Amino acid sequence: MEGARLAKVEVRDRRLRWPIARDFEKRLTGQTVEGLGRRAKYLLADLSSGEVLLMHLGMSGSFRVGKDAAPGVYYHEKSKSTAHDHVVFHMSNGVTVTFNDPRRFGSMRLIKRTKLDAEPLLRGLGPEPLGNAFDAAMLARACAGKKTSLKAALLDQRVVAGLGNIYVCEALYRARLSPKRMASTIADRQAKPNARAAALVEAIKAVLQDAIAAGGSSLRDHRRTDGALGDFQHNFQVYDREGEPCQNCKGRKNTKIRRIVQNGRSTFYCPSCQK
Ligand SMILES: [Zn+2]
Repeated sequence: MEGARLAKVEVRDRRLRWPIARDFEKRLTGQTVEGLGRRAKYLLADLSSGEVLLMHLGMSGSFRVGKDAAPGVYYHEKSKSTAHDHVVFHMSNGVTVTFNDPRRFGSMRLIKRTKLDAEPLLRGLGPEPLGNAFDAAMLARACAGKKTSLKAALLDQRVVAGLGNIYVCEALYRARLSPKRMASTIADRQAKPNARAAALVEAIKAVLQDAIAAGGSSLRDHRRTDGALGDFQHNFQVYDREGEPCQNCKGRKNTKIRRIVQNGRSTFYCPSCQK
């Protein structure tokens, strides 16, 4: 898509999470995609018109890329049913990019680039966990005075963007911090970070880097861009391992991974070594 022009845009079903604007095709057609980016779980395409196409996969959305009507390398088995092809971008270089979404929780909207910072969907998001802005000082500031658990704070997209349940459980385990600990205990009275904040930031970055290197976690239908399954689910140390021995405590204690429910989500942790 990058550097190519949107020669033709087809919307077959406007009923995504929010209805696709009536003038969507008109505003896109003829525009060049100047760059592609990402913010939290939103995909962003910068257009020559000065607008940004903001896309979200929702629960079941995926893109597939074809060239001259043949399946390309980015071809997902799960999106074979063309009945769920809702939006098709025909690019000037012969590539077609098709958005497929059986459950239609995905979304697409156009926003002026100059208004992007004020966009309600993006405005409140915390920093990217792998970016330089996310460090112990920032995390401590965000957690200071918070009357919630550390687990809930890390799932709060205003604290850090894009961390999900699996990676929060794994990061807390690596940092040896209890998910039940009060979020405020990683900061001192002046909201300055303590050793826990530093360990937690390091663990979050490490678990995400490891997961990316393994192609992500395929629990249901996540696929890598080449269609292969991710491998990181085999490296979970606590997530979905209730009743299994803690690998860290093994040899010293016979502690088993425990599952509790926090804010309606499962938490997996070791009650012995996560303090
Ligand atoms: Zn343990």
